[in-house]
Amino acid sequence: MSTASLDRRRFLMGSALAAAALAPGLALAADPYAASTWRKISDGDWKQRLPAFSYEVLRHEATERPGTSPLLGEHRKGTFVCLGCGLPLFKSDWKFESGTGWPSFYTAIKGALAKKTDLAIGIPRTEYHCAQCLGHQGHVFDDGPQPTGLRYCNNGVALRFVPA
Ligand SMILES: [Zn+2]
Repeated sequence: MSTASLDRRRFLMGSALAAAALAPGLALAADPYAASTWRKISDGDWKQRLPAFSYEVLRHEATERPGTSPLLGEHRKGTFVCLGCGLPLFKSDWKFESGTGWPSFYTAIKGALAKKTDLAIGIPRTEYHCAQCLGHQGHVFDDGPQPTGLRYCNNGVALRFVPA
């Protein structure tokens, strides 16, 4: 066997090990809501339950026009919950004025969001969904304020505010 083919074998083994090392991480990404009844609602039933544009955002990943959400002016103490299923997602203490025209938060309630990479506009963005009903909420960017440096950019129509 030539040196070149040995190197190739080592390279392939390295790749296999790297792939194997990822698997435990994926397994750790638990899905505590997998058996939730919220996951069994049909698209047609969601359409009946939700306001028309909330349905488009939550179930079909539409984006609301910036500056249109009444929640931009919501400054009371309380919790922002998923409009689809009521799962608490953000505390009012974490909301900040991002100037983007969308309700923005620097962190989220632990385990409340499921994330995935969105390639819709050609550059990868991290999209997040309600972990319980899997409704689309928004995108998270790394240009937010301290202490996290994150900016959860959320569609207002996908949220409901519950005052404390
Ligand atoms: Zn939800």
